[in-house]
Amino acid sequence: LVEIRNVHKSYNGVDVLHDVSLTIEPGEVVSILGPSGSGKSTLLRTINHLETVDAGWVTIDGALIGYEHRGDKLYELKEKQILGRRTQVGMVFQNFNLFPHLTALQNIVEAPVALKRLSKADARELAAGLLDRVGLGDKADAYPRQLSGGQQQRVAIARALALQPKVLLFDEPTSALDPELVGEVLDVIRDLAKLGTTLVIVTHEIGFARDVSDRVIFIDHGVILEQGTPGEVLGTPRHPRTKEFLGNVL
Ligand code: ATP
Ligand code: MG
Repeated sequence: LVEIRNVHKSYNGVDVLHDVSLTIEPGEVVSILGPSGSGKSTLLRTINHLETVDAGWVTIDGALIGYEHRGDKLYELKEKQILGRRTQVGMVFQNFNLFPHLTALQNIVEAPVALKRLSKADARELAAGLLDRVGLGDKADAYPRQLSGGQQQRVAIARALALQPKVLLFDEPTSALDPELVGEVLDVIRDLAKLGTTLVIVTHEIGFARDVSDRVIFIDHGVILEQGTPGEVLGTPRHPRTKEFLGNVL
């Protein structure tokens, strides 16, 4: 479904992603672990072209993300075309990023109306259903500031689902939350995993990654050092850096 091939990315001459290749199958749940600054967010952001790449490419269902071929070279697409293809990828950020001046329902309605040309009425019905699904059916008219962090993040997940993306990306979805609110967000993600949604999750919640993932990836200095089942990577890590990292966070 998602194919990342030989991706390189550097800032000011420093490699942030070094020859990263990764294939994600439909329905797969992949967790990405690694130290701060290892390139996790950058890798995630290349999947929906929030980040350009210096070399290599990303495809979703075979279609290039952010670029097109002209001859044997890749050229960046125009903003409008980028947006069109980006609807295939949902993203949930650490800080929720809801529109503060819109209610929970309006936050979800926006994108399908603008990008999928859904009627306002259909979009409202879709949004109400999604709010129900994340346990917030009674919060449709609440503004973000009236919601807890956990509730805001659940609205953000509903908003990401509204475009019916082929893959959903999470960048540390619970790390801005008070500890008592983490569980409700992880439960929603867990439900999505059970439903067969394709998920890529950057997280420091090792126990959650173990429960929910089909595959765990450990990245350090922009290189995938190790990947495998949760049992393999978390239970019997082979690489010294993985061991050290798990030793520090567990
Ligand atoms: P964290 O766990 O702290 O979120 P991360 O693994 O997500 O870290 P990235 O955000 O991908 O790491 O950053 C990887 C490296 O790239 C870091 O050294 C960071 O300072 C650098 N970097 C990221 N974005 C930029 C940018 N826009 N300009 C310059 N350097 C950047
Ligand atoms: Mg990050």
